Amino acid sequence: MKIFKFGGASVKDAQGVKNIVNIIKQYTDQPLLVVVSAMGKTTNLLETLLHAHTKNSNEQYSIFEQLKNYHYSIVNQLFENKSQIHSILEEWFANLQDLIEEPNVENYDFEYDRIVSYGELLSTTIVSHYMQYIGIDNQWIDARQLIRTDNTYREAQVDWDKTQRKIKRQLGTHYEAKNTTPIVTQGFIAGTAEGLTTTLGREGSDFSAAIFGYALNANEVVIWKDVDGLLNADPKQFSNTIKLDKIPYSEAIELSYYGASIIHPKTLKPLQNKKIPLKVKSFISPETEGSVIGDFSIKQMTPCFIGKKNQMLISIMPKDFSFIAEENLSTIFGLFAHFGIKINLMQNSALSFSVCVDEKHNINDLIEELQTEFFVKYNKDMELITIRHYDDKSINLVLQNRKPIVEQKNRTTVQYVLKKTLS
Ligand code: ASP
Ligand code: MG
Repeated sequence: MKIFKFGGASVKDAQGVKNIVNIIKQYTDQPLLVVVSAMGKTTNLLETLLHAHTKNSNEQYSIFEQLKNYHYSIVNQLFENKSQIHSILEEWFANLQDLIEEPNVENYDFEYDRIVSYGELLSTTIVSHYMQYIGIDNQWIDARQLIRTDNTYREAQVDWDKTQRKIKRQLGTHYEAKNTTPIVTQGFIAGTAEGLTTTLGREGSDFSAAIFGYALNANEVVIWKDVDGLLNADPKQFSNTIKLDKIPYSEAIELSYYGASIIHPKTLKPLQNKKIPLKVKSFISPETEGSVIGDFSIKQMTPCFIGKKNQMLISIMPKDFSFIAEENLSTIFGLFAHFGIKINLMQNSALSFSVCVDEKHNINDLIEELQTEFFVKYNKDMELITIRHYDDKSINLVLQNRKPIVEQKNRTTVQYVLKKTLS
């Protein structure tokens, strides 16, 4: 069986829904499970709604109306007879309205998951009904009943054993019998043992697809995107990008570790464990080949570029002129962990420890804290460029006569911290 995942951009309007249903239609001769994200920018809108709700702002009602109008306008373009789908959507919206009319609870993350999960509940309801409407029989399933997590709201941790058992119990026979009625379910959302809603972290629908793939021993997981496949660089940042046809799991994991926003980072490990290939295909031109991440070994990988902007280079020096060693490093790492600031690159000398990090909102708090024990110097507006499988040509392309402030090289990877180019 196959798992298909369609992201928000693929279902951002009525045309998008028609398009993905058209794709699904080509595969109705085989067992399929379809994971769908919230439509367009709905998750962001729900975050804004939650924000207004926690401030008890009246604005929440206008945002709620905006959310309703957006979904109803898509539905009205898809269906001629709208009464059935309208009455189902009415129910979702009434439940959501109940939530925002309640005085807000203190646990923000819990509230977040309860509210933001509606994006996927709405999108899958619409897609499933539209499929039925044009004659593709299908079954809508609530992923919150199948993916079991702990109660770390907004970043819930999957209980793999329970999840696998639940998915197998509910869907095992369906797929063993080679039943070709597609199952339609939500990405991103899950549930606790108490039946409370959780989410798997922003952009978590890829991960949901991997969880279903893992539990059902899928033959492949296909992520449908608005690009032709995986590229060797982000086309918004680099020109002359090249499509990568085959990528080994370990390479894709490394790329996402260095910051390539290709696939949600948690997605690959479960698939790698079961050697399930992950395809990335274009929902705009579904007939093209796309890219495959799988169990390959590739002798010569194309150079891959990952650019990270808004970087800060921080140099930390002990005040007492001691050397940088285990004791003060452990204090430094402790503080970075405490403030939740991920180190993108680090380098040390006898007297100084330098790190490159994203300029996050709480970076000044961290610096202040560091300054109690260390001298701290920092440079803002830096750029971190990583090249995997570098060669002279790719290095020249990146540096263009600029002199890197920090350079770090090993056999496969080179990283440069550079002053931002004027553009
Ligand atoms: N709708 C969620 C988000 O926008 C999950 C996803 O799209 O993967 O983060
Ligand atoms: Mg999305």
